[in-house]
Amino acid sequence: MRTQMYIDGEWVDGIGKMPVYDPSDGSVIAEVALAGDKECEAALAAADKAAASWAKTAPRVRAEILRKAFEIMSAEADAIATIVSKENGKVLSDAKGEVLYAAEFFRWFSEEAVRVPGDFRKSPSGDKRILVTHQPIGVSLLITPWNFPAAMATRKIGPAIAAGCTMILKPASETPLTALAIVDIMERAGVPKGVINIILPEKVGASISKLLHDPRLRNLSFTGSTEVGRILLKDAADRVIRCSMELGGNAPFVVFDDADIPAAVQGLMLAKMRNGGAACTAANRVYVQRPVAEAFVAEFSKAMGALVMGKGTDSGVQLGASVSMKERNKIAELVSNAVKAGAKIITGGITPAGDGAFYPATVITCEKDNEILQHEVFGPVAPIVTFDTDEEAIALANDTDFGLISYVFSGDLARGIRAAEAIESGMVAINRGVISDPAAPFGGVKQSGLGREGGFDGIHEFLETKYIGVEI
Ligand code: NAP
Repeated sequence: MRTQMYIDGEWVDGIGKMPVYDPSDGSVIAEVALAGDKECEAALAAADKAAASWAKTAPRVRAEILRKAFEIMSAEADAIATIVSKENGKVLSDAKGEVLYAAEFFRWFSEEAVRVPGDFRKSPSGDKRILVTHQPIGVSLLITPWNFPAAMATRKIGPAIAAGCTMILKPASETPLTALAIVDIMERAGVPKGVINIILPEKVGASISKLLHDPRLRNLSFTGSTEVGRILLKDAADRVIRCSMELGGNAPFVVFDDADIPAAVQGLMLAKMRNGGAACTAANRVYVQRPVAEAFVAEFSKAMGALVMGKGTDSGVQLGASVSMKERNKIAELVSNAVKAGAKIITGGITPAGDGAFYPATVITCEKDNEILQHEVFGPVAPIVTFDTDEEAIALANDTDFGLISYVFSGDLARGIRAAEAIESGMVAINRGVISDPAAPFGGVKQSGLGREGGFDGIHEFLETKYIGVEI
């Protein structure tokens, strides 16, 4: 297990150490090195020094490195999944799923590295030529959250390498070990020194702000909460840094009266419970049409109530711990406030005693104006609201500042597509509980972010478009 930072091709200590906890029992798993000003500066200087030569490497060379990283990560998936599960709390099966999904970003971007399109056109006047090409933006700062410590890192590292950018990775303080393991893989895959650097600043806000104000830094790729995203956008504005923002979500899950109910229940179990509900894609607001509401609530609550909760690495466990007591307590408070405002608990809702950051799978029914529906519940809680008409369902789905993903279940594809087109979100799943795919553009509208990761768009978050005009 790597615990040092990686700067300019060396594993180094910093100004001190920070403990990493196992949230299922509060024990310390490891102590990782912390960066002071000197280490942050060294990481930026290294990325800057390597930028020009890295940008000139043949796309095939970068593709081969990513392919190698995919192969190493896939072969070592079990070991990395154990690290993910230990520091994040999620169950081992979720962790393994995440690691394999994370590795796929390396494979996808190894294929994208050699397929960046350009353009050559005649001007409308006929006497000039328009050449359009793409160039790496330059030194990029990648900031990732704790909920998918592997996939959120590779979803940024993959396109940055493919595009020819050098980078500084700053993982979440709760889950640095996974990111350090991934950087170790990149080193073994042959990434030249200085191209990838990882730091854990002791003073996060001040150090990141300083980096964003340095002319050597050209690009910020952030995944995390909307609150922190706003702070970073304001900071980045001072030097007009290019920004890609993957922010919070508050996904609606709409079940129409013609839906296949067992399939919708299964879909919601995935959409709500993947990662113990700690996903930006998690279904947070469940809207069910009145004729099927009773049957749906009964069947879904039964499935939720049957989930086995415990330490993520134990066999047979289906719901692990939240990442920290702080996060667990936030979930408990949201439920308690919802109940005070009239919500009814169908299953779960009782906070367990002990040192583990556990919260049980919980189903509540509530009115459409309950405050819990305006929050991103980052845990295993599903509030269910009944609706009558399709128009009402769309209005309720859109009643949020967020717009990352939405889920629609209907037996009528045309009805599903009509709803998908009317809902304000960057992604819509029709009759599916999970649609994340390295080959698809991931991202949100409204306060869920700016830009797209994955798909054909992902590499362009690390490329500038250049137009060259030619007189003929
Ligand atoms: P967070 O609190 O916003 O933290 C995300 C990252 O930002 C961490 O590395 C954190 O570092 C860093 N950070 C915090 N304050 C900062 C500051 N002032 N300046 C610079 N960096 C700062 O989010 P989180 O709790 O880790 O993750 C959960 C959130 O991420 C949810 O809202 C979820 O919806 C969102 N998310 C979105 C997507 C997406 O693709 N749209 C995917 C996954 C998660 P420290 O850990 O050191 O504080």
